[in-house]
Amino acid sequence: PKTIAVLTSGGDAPGMNACIRAIVLACERENYTVYGYLHGYNGLLNQEYTQLHAERVHNLNQLGGTILHSARCREFKTQDAAERAAANLDALEVDMLIVIGGDGSFRGAMHLSNYWDGQIIGIPGTIDNDINGTDATIGYYTAIETAVDSIDKVRDTADAFERIFLVEVMGRHAGFLGLSAALASASDFVLLPELFESEAATLKQIGEQLSERREQRGNISYIIVLAENLWPGGINKLAEKLQSLTQSEVRPVILGHVQRGGAPVSQDRIMAMKLGAHAVSLAGSQTNCVMVGERYGKPCEVPLPVTWSEPKPLSDSDVNTMKQLMNNRYA
Ligand code: ADP
Repeated sequence: PKTIAVLTSGGDAPGMNACIRAIVLACERENYTVYGYLHGYNGLLNQEYTQLHAERVHNLNQLGGTILHSARCREFKTQDAAERAAANLDALEVDMLIVIGGDGSFRGAMHLSNYWDGQIIGIPGTIDNDINGTDATIGYYTAIETAVDSIDKVRDTADAFERIFLVEVMGRHAGFLGLSAALASASDFVLLPELFESEAATLKQIGEQLSERREQRGNISYIIVLAENLWPGGINKLAEKLQSLTQSEVRPVILGHVQRGGAPVSQDRIMAMKLGAHAVSLAGSQTNCVMVGERYGKPCEVPLPVTWSEPKPLSDSDVNTMKQLMNNRYA
């Protein structure tokens, strides 16, 4: 029987708990011992862990956040920290470590692999979906729902007052969440890092589209989705610019951390369960330093460095649909 350890690291995402549950249940079936390290890599450094059993993960599938807590841990980047973590894993006789997190957490896992010879498996957990080699990441679908729900509400008030609203969504440096949320909420314009040309070009496009719409339909509501970290100076700067450009009030709304929370939607739960169960099935095999992701509905294994070596491209067909239906005159 093997000993498996699991931790959640970096930005938390809905569905991490469903993944932990799947790992624990799959381990119990195999008579494996399973430990949960707390607070991301900090737990690994401080030997702070808890043994996990089926009772502990009862009723957990639908819970947002992560019962193991997540954290960032700057110190983990050092050689000394990785060596301490390796010694702690060996002291518990851990055979396989599963890291649920984003690309930063995967870099940490790869760093650890230089000092520890146990098996290391990553599982993509982030609302940003910015990890190469997997169609989606745990938490992404839930975050889309949350953002769409909020933008729908913004639309109601925007319509009532015939106002322009600028809505900032998360995504770190990727536009997946912004694009999906803008499409599903039928927003009028979306600004994504992958497609951003310049401030001037963007303002020109929005200005022209808006005045054309106004000529056609009179005073209207207009929703612009803005990916975070994109506009130089931030959302308020853009709101000011738009206000002077359009001579209308422009309301900035930052959706913020609500996008990380909430019960995971079914898609995230099911993916979390599949990836967790698949990761456990690899225990004792030669497979090492890979991310278990999902491609075309099936689990896949991708070497960890591949997950971050290149930025993941947006879906062409999503972008084309966006250009046809939203920022349409400028495709
Ligand atoms: P995410 O996993 O969501 O991308 P971060 O980028 O914050 O989140 O990374 C989470 C943690 O992973 C960091 O706090 C750090 O402990 C570890 N980490 C990130 N990058 C590296 C690296 N290059 N080497 C070692 N550890 C790293």
